[in-house]
Amino acid sequence: MIITDTHTHLYSEAFNEDRHEMINRAIEQGVSRFFIPAIDSEYTESMFQLEKDFPEHVFLMTGLHPTHVKDNYKEELNHVEDLLSKRSFYAIGEIGIDLHWDKSTLGVQQQAFKYQIQLAKKYKLPIVIHCRDAFDEVFEILESEKGDDLFGVFHCFTGTFEQAQQAISYNMKLGIGGVLTFKNGKIDKFLNNIDLKHIVLETDAPYLAPTPYRGKRNESLYVLKVLEKLSYIYNSSEEELAEITTQNSKDVFKV
Ligand SMILES: [Zn+2]
Repeated sequence: MIITDTHTHLYSEAFNEDRHEMINRAIEQGVSRFFIPAIDSEYTESMFQLEKDFPEHVFLMTGLHPTHVKDNYKEELNHVEDLLSKRSFYAIGEIGIDLHWDKSTLGVQQQAFKYQIQLAKKYKLPIVIHCRDAFDEVFEILESEKGDDLFGVFHCFTGTFEQAQQAISYNMKLGIGGVLTFKNGKIDKFLNNIDLKHIVLETDAPYLAPTPYRGKRNESLYVLKVLEKLSYIYNSSEEELAEITTQNSKDVFKV
C-alpha cells in the first residue's frame, strides 16, 4: 500500500529533535510520498536539505504562504521566481488568502495570490491553495483565472458541499486531512457525495493532528487515521482508497 501525504511541513522546527525517525516511521507503514509546501524564503535551505536526505520520497513546492505576505512580499515573490528559474518544483504552494489572522493585508494577499497563479501557469505547475475564512475572496480570484491551465489542490478543505463543487469546477482536488476525523468537522456529512477522483490525502503536519492525537504534534504517519475515516465514509477498503488517492496525487503533481 502506497499512501501519499500531499501536504506536510516536514522541515518544520517541530521535527528538529526526531525528523529522520519520524519520516522513517511513516515510510515503514507505507506513507512514502511527501509533498512539501513552502512558507517563505526562511525555509528554503531546510527544504533542500530534506530533499537531499529523502530524494525518493520528498517532492518540493515553492511559494509564499498568505500569512507571510508582509511588507517585504515583493522580495519574497522574487525569491520564488528566482528558484523557479533555476530548478524544478512540483507545485506553487501554499498560496491563497487567510483572513483569520490579519484582515488588513487582504489587498496584498490578493496580489500575491494572483501573481503566483500566473507563475504556475507560466511553468505549467499545479497550485496548492490555503484558504482560511476567505472562500469568497479565493473563489473570486479562481473565477478570474479559471481555464485548462489552472489546476491543483484545495488544501485542508473544510467548506460546504456547494463550496466543494465550486472548487472542483476550477480543476481543484480536495485535500482531506485531520479535520475529517473531528467530531464537529462537518465535511464527513457530505463527502461521500463527492467522487473519489477529486480527493487527495494530507496531514498538514505538524498542524491539525487527527483524532485521537488532536491538539498534539501531527506527523505524516497519522494520515492513516484520515484514511481509516475515509474508508468508513466511502465504505471502501483502505487499500483501494490509498491507491485511488495516490493516483490522484500523481495526476496533479505529475510524479
Ligand atoms: Zn500547510
